[in-house]
Amino acid sequence: MTARIVDGTGMAAAIRETLKPRAAAFAAEHGRPPGLGIILIGEDPASEIYVRNKLRSAAEAGLRADLERLPATATLADVLASVHRLNESDVHDGILVQSPLGPSLGAEAEQVVFDAIDPRKDVDGFHPVNVGRLVQKRPALVPGTPLGVVEILERSGVPIAGRRAVVIGRSDIVGKPVAMLLLHRDATVTICHSKTPDLAATAATADILVAAIGRAGFVTAAFVKPGAAVVDVGITRVTDPAIVARMFPPGSARHADFERRGTLVVGDVHPEVADVAGLLTPVPGGVGPLTVAMLLSNVLRAAEGGRRKA
Ligand code: NAP
Repeated sequence: MTARIVDGTGMAAAIRETLKPRAAAFAAEHGRPPGLGIILIGEDPASEIYVRNKLRSAAEAGLRADLERLPATATLADVLASVHRLNESDVHDGILVQSPLGPSLGAEAEQVVFDAIDPRKDVDGFHPVNVGRLVQKRPALVPGTPLGVVEILERSGVPIAGRRAVVIGRSDIVGKPVAMLLLHRDATVTICHSKTPDLAATAATADILVAAIGRAGFVTAAFVKPGAAVVDVGITRVTDPAIVARMFPPGSARHADFERRGTLVVGDVHPEVADVAGLLTPVPGGVGPLTVAMLLSNVLRAAEGGRRKA
């Protein structure tokens, strides 16, 4: 079998198109566009790219998006002061603090900062109020990546109810909320992690397999039931030629790309899975663009004060 490869970039563009008239209607009613405030601490190159994408996509969808930069030397009090300003802002409906916050703020800082965001403006869905609402199947703002995973499955016509889903990864921002969204759509869900025995055998029971691990090419054909829908959330920037060669043989287009740039962004799923799966999301161009589109959708939802289907 050769898997259908999902066009996440095209799907994200289609979602942005649906946001434009809603943004315009909000602006007509309120005299201002829906607004997103982003706080970026330090100069992490990956974060710079993510934030640039979010700003550009927001503008394309007709949203206002403002970036507040803080130096890498910013204290926790500085970051909290910025969050409080945005909490009080009349023109910002959504707030996002780009993670990672940076090592100088300390291990607990991320939770303290996310907890300080007004839950009604928490468009990343990390605040405990929003996490609790999701668990109780009365969600308000749900993290963008898990929403993107489900959006891909639904737009691709993959049935979820009654199917067996396996999620590899149990983080608060991807694994757990993905599992919850699939559970609420009546899948039978198993969550796997680094201590799971017989991981490949468990994964191979899945009709829907979600990989959110952060290990290049970890999920091989042995993990995949023939015909399964495989969603690759992982994003790893690889510089080791041996890892690249294991995933993309010399002579292939991706290998040539690596030789030109000296680096390659890859997912958790090995390309050989395309020969077994029924549906596969690529990296890049799969879940990533959906994540940003769903974030923007959350900004509109926050602006409109609406509630989301579980
Ligand atoms: P994370 O917090 O590091 O969590 C990784 C999870 O994978 C953990 O639960 C860990 O298990 C599990 N894991 C690690 N090694 C494993 C192994 N050998 N076998 C089984 N499970 C293993 O990462 P995250 O934030 O969830 O992100 C996961 C990946 O998704 C990363 O590559 C990240 O860059 C990417 N991501 C992509 C997007 C997007 O927009 N596409 C958004 C967010 C994240 P333990 O809990 O046992 O340690």
